[in-house]
Amino acid sequence: MQLEYSINLCRKCGSVCAARSGASTFGCTTCGTRNSVAKAVRLVDSVPSKDVPSTIASYKMAMAKCGKKQ
Ligand SMILES: [Zn+2]
Repeated sequence: MQLEYSINLCRKCGSVCAARSGASTFGCTTCGTRNSVAKAVRLVDSVPSKDVPSTIASYKMAMAKCGKKQ
């Protein structure tokens, strides 16, 4: 059985975080804030657990390119 995750943005610091599908909250790995999945900005849905690290990495990279520095 494969777990699926959604990729969300932390409401406090804007970090890209994974939330387990079906969960109502997720913890930010950067600032530790507990976010409500319903209120967070969702980037992608139904990401297989094995693809979560690469998906997060690609979003972080894309966001870094759009940012002011780096
Ligand atoms: Zn955060």
